Amino acid sequence: MKSPFRSFKWKDIGDIERGRPAMGEKMHVAVYRMFHYSLRGVLEKSYGKEAVKHILVEAGRAAGKEFCRHELNPKLPPQDFFHLLKQKMAVLGIGLLEVEHADFENMIFILTVSEDLDCSGLPETGETVCNYDEGLIMGILEQYTGKQFIVRETDCWSTGDWTCRFHVVAI
Ligand SMILES: [Zn+2]
Repeated sequence: MKSPFRSFKWKDIGDIERGRPAMGEKMHVAVYRMFHYSLRGVLEKSYGKEAVKHILVEAGRAAGKEFCRHELNPKLPPQDFFHLLKQKMAVLGIGLLEVEHADFENMIFILTVSEDLDCSGLPETGETVCNYDEGLIMGILEQYTGKQFIVRETDCWSTGDWTCRFHVVAI
């Protein structure tokens, strides 16, 4: 029997132009964070912190794959690919991406995202919170390279840093 569950698909976003002719594409960051952190709180209560981190990474990963398929161009060479990714992330308000280190031979990257949608401006807790972004980067690079990655956020607004820093390694 076919499973009733399936991963996120780009078409789940729907036809925004048709559905929101007056409201359009935009909404406030506060609304996104209201959704993200209220959902996170409820999930943590039921499943615990570590499980929710994993859930968010997997959700980001599914989104990243579809994002790469539909909004990026996996056929581009690395430099152009990252340039387009940077542009898209800025235009969509995800954050300001910088590639600090890119080693395509060994598939090791260090990426930073400033003014991050998930965390910039959050109260400092000493704990990184951008698990969804970790997954998003994972999914995008997975789709682009055909390899699997470990992505770990080492710096975050919530750890008192001005930018989020992600260490990316192929497995
Ligand atoms: Zn962060």
